[in-house]
Amino acid sequence: MTATAPPSLVLVLNSGSSSIKFQLVDPVAGTALLSGLVEHVGEPDSPVADHAAGLRLIHSRLADSGIDLAAVRAVGHRVVHGGKLFYRPTLITDEVVAKIDRLSELAPLHNPANVIGIEVARKDFPDVPHVAVFDTGFFHSLPAAATTYAIDRDLANRYGIHRYGFHGTSHEYVCGVAATVLGRDTRELNIIVLHLGNGASASAVRGGVAVETSMGLTPLEGLVMGTRSGDVDPGVLFHLNRTAGLDIDELDELLNRRSGLKGLCGVNDFRELLEQRAAGGPAGEAANLAYDVYVHRIRKYVGAYLAVLGRVDAIVFTAGVGENAPSVREDSLEGLDALGISVDPERNRAGRGARIVSAKGSRTSVLVIPTDEELAIARAAWQFV
Ligand code: AMP
Repeated sequence: MTATAPPSLVLVLNSGSSSIKFQLVDPVAGTALLSGLVEHVGEPDSPVADHAAGLRLIHSRLADSGIDLAAVRAVGHRVVHGGKLFYRPTLITDEVVAKIDRLSELAPLHNPANVIGIEVARKDFPDVPHVAVFDTGFFHSLPAAATTYAIDRDLANRYGIHRYGFHGTSHEYVCGVAATVLGRDTRELNIIVLHLGNGASASAVRGGVAVETSMGLTPLEGLVMGTRSGDVDPGVLFHLNRTAGLDIDELDELLNRRSGLKGLCGVNDFRELLEQRAAGGPAGEAANLAYDVYVHRIRKYVGAYLAVLGRVDAIVFTAGVGENAPSVREDSLEGLDALGISVDPERNRAGRGARIVSAKGSRTSVLVIPTDEELAIARAAWQFV
């Protein structure tokens, strides 16, 4: 029997506020060997008391998988907020962990969970490099005109009020794949990316460099999302406070957890929204309105980003809804032929994987690109091996 050397692997960890996702990735082959999710971390009555317990569970699943964990050559950590300190993939040291922890003020639900994930994983895998990849990183390049809120400068500076943007790993990754599909160099392409998942964001990318994005200080700004409102007039908050008596925590909960698609039609899962539309009746009416608001918001951002970029070579749809809901792609770009954007209805409804769905002769290519943040993080971490 000839023993084949196990491939070199990267463990990718994404510790969210109440869940931890993991994936074992072969960064060279670009394949995932094992992935999983621990949910309800730290929730009342959950068997997973905290993030440390969740990571122990993941470690035992990895150990039980039969995969030789000695093949894990690096650990990549998705970290939500890099603030103004971090934007490149960063080798984790004690000092880096302390700084990520200090950035928790900007991402109170996420950075503390990221820090615990990093600390536990460093004990579990003490001999390999641990690398932080920041969700805000790709948007570090945004010009001041795009990152600055038009509010009092001194106050904004003192409290770090700045548009950071999120989902950067995904936006950057799909731009790279889009360039490959088009047989072009990213440096010569202007791209609008529509990352439409449970969270949703749009970006404008000129020659591989992000110049605008829809999320801001927090992931609440911009597009309509599963449970988040996206853009609202800030005056709505004052009004609700004064008339409905909602306090600041209730308003936070309203806009982050009870708005978006869920607020409009009761469900945040897009598949359920589509089923509700098809079933008709009053619930169907509500789902129709939710769908229309969702699509309308996307169109507004596409229009804005056409103007920001001047010339757009490609529009890329990605993430759960962007990859799997052809009607959203068709409806959000409908009637834009005069602007050089035409979706081909048949191509749009057929095929799988990374592909072009625009009509032949459409000046702007429309693409569907499955995102793969774990692979992007694994590749970033692999650079340090
Ligand atoms: P993500 O956050 O990228 O995992 O995306 C989750 C969202 O994608 C949820 O709203 C899902 O309902 C939606 N989604 C997943 N598969 C489909 C599908 N086949 N059709 C429509 N929406 C889908």
